[in-house]
Amino acid sequence: MTGAPPCAGRPTIGVLALQGDVREHVRALSAAGATGVAVRRAAELRGLDGLVLPGGESTTIGRLLRVFDLLEPLRAAVAGGLPVFGSCAGLILLAADVLDGRPDQPLVGGLDVVVRRNAFGRQSQSFELDVEVAGVPGGPVHAVFIRAPWVEKAGDGVDVLARAGERIVAVRQDHLLATAFHPELTGDTRVHGLFVEMVRELRGAT
Ligand code: GLN
Repeated sequence: MTGAPPCAGRPTIGVLALQGDVREHVRALSAAGATGVAVRRAAELRGLDGLVLPGGESTTIGRLLRVFDLLEPLRAAVAGGLPVFGSCAGLILLAADVLDGRPDQPLVGGLDVVVRRNAFGRQSQSFELDVEVAGVPGGPVHAVFIRAPWVEKAGDGVDVLARAGERIVAVRQDHLLATAFHPELTGDTRVHGLFVEMVRELRGAT
């Protein structure tokens, strides 16, 4: 259709491919109506409609961001309004500050939250829980938590989308979405669907 915004149809969403569940995110994005592409270099950020920061180990991903000269370009992309979805380590990377992190751990930032790394403690390093996620219709999402962080403090502009007990485990602030859990691992692509919808809204509006 002429005049339609470029990503009204199938947005192109990058998946940071330094470490973590890259393939699973690409698959989930594709099921949710987007085209997922692996991103390893700053030049590959160009032309994206959105970006996923997958889980893994935030200290390692942070170190690799420096090695691959991606830290500043990513900060600039976030500051410039690129829609980003961070899962688990991706939530940590988007956070303004981290508790129980490594002192030299670089963050991308942009999301007005303080997260606590490995917050759920040793006994429940990994667990699964059904959580209601605001904006995701059709009942609770089966959430997989793997050495997950939680959001310790969220700023006024941050919408809390989900809690596990009283702990905040999913948030949105403007163009940034983040979950403490791993929606790419369950075959339920509704959280990716929420992100794709966000991308369409935000990019369609420009
Ligand atoms: N504990 C990890 C970290 O600090 C996050 C775990 C995950 O992404 N599954 O980065």
